[in-house]
Amino acid sequence: MSDIFQQLSGVQRDAVQTTEGPVMVLAGAGSGKTRVITYRIANLIESRNAAPHQILALTFTNKAANEMRQRVEQLLYQGSTRGLWIGTFHSVFARILRNYIHLIGYTSNFSIYDSDDSKSLIRQVMKDLGISTDSVAPNTVQSLISRAKNDFVLPAQFHRDAADYNRGKAAKVYEVYTQRLKENNALDFDDLLLKPLELFREVPAVLEQLQEYFRYILIDEYQDTNKAQYLVAKQLCARHRNIFVVGDDAQSIYSWRGADISNILNFTDDYPDAKVFKLLENYRSTRTILRAANGVISRNSRQIRKDLVSNKGDGEPLSLLESFNEKREADKVGEMIRSLKLSQQREYRDFAIFYRTNAQSRVLEDILRMHRIPYRIFGSISFYKRKEIKDAIAYLRFIQNDQDTESLLRIINFPPRKIGDKSIQQLTEYSRVRGTSLYEAIKVAESGGFQARLLNALGAFSDLVEKLKLVALEGSVYDVLNSLYEETGLLRLLKEENTAESLARHENLQELLSMAREFSDHHQGANGLCEFMNDIALASDREAAEETDNYVSLMTVHAAKGLEFPVVFITGLEERLFPLNCFENEELEEERRLFYVAVTRAREKLFLSWSKSRYLYGQPQACIRSMFIDEIDSDIIENEGGSTLSESRVPRQMSNGRPCVPQVPPGPTKRPAGPQDGLKKGVRVQHAMFGPGVVRRVQGSGSSRKVVITFRNSGDKTLMVEYANLKIM
Ligand code: ATP
Ligand code: MG
Repeated sequence: MSDIFQQLSGVQRDAVQTTEGPVMVLAGAGSGKTRVITYRIANLIESRNAAPHQILALTFTNKAANEMRQRVEQLLYQGSTRGLWIGTFHSVFARILRNYIHLIGYTSNFSIYDSDDSKSLIRQVMKDLGISTDSVAPNTVQSLISRAKNDFVLPAQFHRDAADYNRGKAAKVYEVYTQRLKENNALDFDDLLLKPLELFREVPAVLEQLQEYFRYILIDEYQDTNKAQYLVAKQLCARHRNIFVVGDDAQSIYSWRGADISNILNFTDDYPDAKVFKLLENYRSTRTILRAANGVISRNSRQIRKDLVSNKGDGEPLSLLESFNEKREADKVGEMIRSLKLSQQREYRDFAIFYRTNAQSRVLEDILRMHRIPYRIFGSISFYKRKEIKDAIAYLRFIQNDQDTESLLRIINFPPRKIGDKSIQQLTEYSRVRGTSLYEAIKVAESGGFQARLLNALGAFSDLVEKLKLVALEGSVYDVLNSLYEETGLLRLLKEENTAESLARHENLQELLSMAREFSDHHQGANGLCEFMNDIALASDREAAEETDNYVSLMTVHAAKGLEFPVVFITGLEERLFPLNCFENEELEEERRLFYVAVTRAREKLFLSWSKSRYLYGQPQACIRSMFIDEIDSDIIENEGGSTLSESRVPRQMSNGRPCVPQVPPGPTKRPAGPQDGLKKGVRVQHAMFGPGVVRRVQGSGSSRKVVITFRNSGDKTLMVEYANLKIM
């Protein structure tokens, strides 16, 4: 066991060996927080301070939990991890609830409803309460309820606090939904965190038992815990008070899901005797990568400052990839992977490609397949397998071939048009009797003696299908998809729901539209739809065939938390994409933390990539380079020609696609803008503190020259040009 301590720094070792009492490790990325948790568990077991079953370790993903268990296993000299409680909050508490939930009126074989199940229950409840889904979308209700649960707000209080129309409705649904779940002996995901709290309140003896049982509690990524998780942990450790949390406020990226950074900031208030360790050394990345990360995060105003130092060498500079569209961008990434694999004897598994939004993976997937580079998508379903894409494709397939009953069943009640399972069953029966396809039966349903309401719904559905068929005869794939979206109001509905999930779906459908647009631009004439469907069918087929353990990892930045890779590509570094549309400074700061997470995943080499245009919302759009690129010292970024950005002038583009005034190179040699500096009305500028803005007026001359700028996040400011240190973009 003493050997393993040699694999730790002095501070890390102290954190591992301070086994009793509350301890927090607050430290930046790659400083060994997760490593400390792992070694601490091994030490607790090996030193016989605790039996494995007395240790509870909570991680953020199941993948992280598995890796941690394996690692502990390797570290143990004699002991074993048998009985060790390790997993996500959800998985661990599901297990605990199976043992005790009978005490609060459920039985131990309760079902766990996923998000889709809970949504359909919410829909049902709304129907029973006579709340029209037109007045408030079920998804909106679902996310309001979920958020309330994560904040540990119960129905009664939610009802009292409900301040607006949507919340008022959601409050009613919340109450009945909770009853129904109980009648069904079911818990939704959020209940897995809430029910333990309810259980502890109603049956204190259980809490006491568990408090006695878990002698040591360890939590990774503490900055992303929400209120319910915080309370559960706090209650469980009350007896032994051996709570050990690690986190990094600079990596808090889940506030949109109710994570509360004050949990980490208030730890020492909750436990005044807590020992706090700070790890300042980074063991993951080169000095250059860290310089980039530190430079970026230091621009956030509300951040605990902790500059990391690398214990590695300078390493290579960052590389900037600049492409004229997103296909070329993906192509460059593919070429780079091929070339580094050869020149530096790298394996596919050394590479990771990150993007801000799920929809961006589609082009990357296509191009990697073309390059025959094996890849895997993490943390989300591959583009073609996503539900909304499958639904849209089912429509296209059905329009092309109306004998395809599988596709028909997928779309007949999507979006919901009140054609329930029972009606479908009756219709299927009817089609069997008549010996026709299901769709044929639907078209002649009038003679089948069905209820008028159903007949209406069926009529509207077949009208839609026939209309789309006509569009397909004359128009392009793009036209068909566009009409489909318009006629069903699909995009509008998703946008109105305005939840993270619905917006992701919205983006994906938009991406399919972009894909169709591009296809249609290059394939005129008949049979377009057929060919398009072929392309898609083959794409999803090949995807299934690629099963190997040596692959490039593709994921959103959110999914990359806690991981590390030798070579990282951050793609789509454009304004309004990364950072994603931000309206408030707080949102921009969360985007910047997200960028910090992305940068700090890289061990040896980091590529920053952006594209001057991109198909968004079905149209090619001109893009502007992300401000985050410019927040990194230009002397550590190399462009493709091999010179650093501080040596070369990189022209930027205006959002309307016209090249704008050459940029004053960013970097340490910033000079004050002079009269020939191009400062005039309408020019976009960047200020070190206020961020991006647009010049409204320039007044005066010489040293008293002033400029009035409307900053995106800070509003109007009048600045002295000589001291403002403005960069023109
Ligand atoms: P993140 O904030 O990204 O989750 P982290 O603080 O959890 O990062 P780890 O993943 O634990 O950091 O460690 C980063 C890398 O540094 C890992 O590869 C780990 O094995 C290595 N490492 C950590 N501490 C040491 C050490 N004392 N000696 C050698 N390598 C170390
Ligand atoms: Mg970690």
